[in-house]
Amino acid sequence: MFEIKNYPILSHKSIFLYFCKVFIEGKVDRLKDYNISYKGLKDGMHKFEYQIGAPFFNLFEEPLVESGTLNAVVTLNKSQKMLVVDFDIKGTVSSICDKCMGPMEIPVESSDRMYFNFGIEYSEQSEEIIVLPYEEHQINVAQWLYEFIIVSLPLRHVHPDDENGNSTCDTQMLEKLDEYLVGDENSSQEQEETNDPRWDALKKLINK
Ligand SMILES: [Zn+2]
Repeated sequence: MFEIKNYPILSHKSIFLYFCKVFIEGKVDRLKDYNISYKGLKDGMHKFEYQIGAPFFNLFEEPLVESGTLNAVVTLNKSQKMLVVDFDIKGTVSSICDKCMGPMEIPVESSDRMYFNFGIEYSEQSEEIIVLPYEEHQINVAQWLYEFIIVSLPLRHVHPDDENGNSTCDTQMLEKLDEYLVGDENSSQEQEETNDPRWDALKKLINK
């Protein structure tokens, strides 16, 4: 069973509705791929590898990232007292440039460590330290993988400069954007003829 406990901010009703939905969409089965049953493991290091792309992000409600190509290595170091789990994630996620609205790939390289102690009941002592109940036998790492990817992303997504220091943004789109913004100041009646779907999306945003 997937760990409801990873969603402490949700009410019982929203958790129930969420799980109805994930069950219907077959997400429960796919979430199981991210279960690590630690009870049966010997003390010592254990490695788990995951290929992360659109099907992974699709497991989350309104994900902040929808696709990408990432490799995640989860290394679990088990002892009688605790689990120390390292998450090493490398790859790229697909996004939209904040400046020209063109597609772009953002590199991701993150290393994070979590500590799991054992106790009477589940609790989160800090962002990195979690207490698991003694009777628990597995953790589901999907939520942490997702969060570590999201927090590693820069706040602003903009095409990088090339080796000559020139912007690699879509210059045609930037020109259209400039024209539209200037035109909008002078006359809100101005209509642009274009078949570029990104432009239509942008206009909708501006006119909101
Ligand atoms: Zn750009």
